Amino acid sequence: MEEKSCDCIIIGAGPGGLQAAIHLSRYNRKVILLDQGGGRTRHALHIENYLGLEITSGKELVDTGIKQIQSFGAEFRREHVASVMAENGFSVTTEKGRYQAPYLIVSCGVVENLPKIKGMNKFFSRAIFTCVDCDGYHTTGKKLVILGDSLDAMRLAFAMRQMFTPDITLILPAGLMPDDHAELLAEDGIAFLAGVPQEFLGDTALTGVKLADGQEIVCEVVMLSYDYTLNDSCLAGLSLERDGNGTQISTSPGCETSVQNLFALGALKAGKAQAIIAAGQGAMVGIEINHRLLGL
Ligand SMILES: Cc1cc2nc3c(=O)[nH]c(=O)nc-3n(C[C@H](O)[C@H](O)[C@H](O)COP(=O)(O)OP(=O)(O)OC[C@H]3O[C@@H](n4cnc5c(N)ncnc54)[C@H](O)[C@@H]3O)c2cc1C
Repeated sequence: MEEKSCDCIIIGAGPGGLQAAIHLSRYNRKVILLDQGGGRTRHALHIENYLGLEITSGKELVDTGIKQIQSFGAEFRREHVASVMAENGFSVTTEKGRYQAPYLIVSCGVVENLPKIKGMNKFFSRAIFTCVDCDGYHTTGKKLVILGDSLDAMRLAFAMRQMFTPDITLILPAGLMPDDHAELLAEDGIAFLAGVPQEFLGDTALTGVKLADGQEIVCEVVMLSYDYTLNDSCLAGLSLERDGNGTQISTSPGCETSVQNLFALGALKAGKAQAIIAAGQGAMVGIEINHRLLGL
């Protein structure tokens, strides 16, 4: 096992972790960034709400960010973090090494809870979306199906109706929707069906959703409402305060968690999951950690 120490360890090469690494390494601080690969940002095919970049992909954003941090001397390591302990600062263990630092930034993100539906990979991020802030705009004026497993999907349907398209069919598991809620949807012209989605249809373009009972619902785009799971298993050894739902990590406005000198960025923490927001948090935290290192 390799043993190394540095000023700050960063877990996760999302926009937040990368931006923090840029700031810290440009103060000539020693930074190790550990990332296992994959990640939500990489799945974003078309990011067009990031200032200064008319259109980019998450992959391009991350790959350029990795080159950028390396150019300033940060050490990038493709490793999976198994555990984090708060002892003498922070001790982070991967399959290849043990790393020690007085400051730790976690930017590990989340994974979407995607239902098993045939054709998901083919259309994901092209015509099947999970994030209104990211991709709602791409549904403007289109024939939309919303799939979900809770009444959050109904709230999403009303929001999509107001902002993007009047042509919406909401599909939920049987027994979930109270009758009076279905009437409210009908008043807004939103169609409702109880059913189990089985397959996304279409060769190159999405043309519809097939249900387990054989019905085929014609559509051009799909929004999914199935919530997320945090990539936080490596933090199990720390007792971090969580938000009201007990899910996302609570932080101060400066992104510090309930464990001193441990900062959380991006979708892992309570707040809005957007690339530019995570990057802003990363810049803020990088500057703050440098101030603490200066100790002046
Ligand atoms: C389809 C899609 C489209 C999107 N479109 C947009 C958009 O248009 N605009 C926008 O602003 N945002 C968009 N997003 C959301 C956005 O990409 C992220 O929410 C945002 O960038 C914050 O990401 P993050 O840094 O929290 O996590 P991520 O980007 O997921 O990065 C986390 C990283 O941590 C790594 N990691 C996790 N656990 C470990 C571990 N134990 N050890 C080592 N590494 C680990 C992961 O592998 C990953 O590389 C989109 C997301 C998706 C899925």
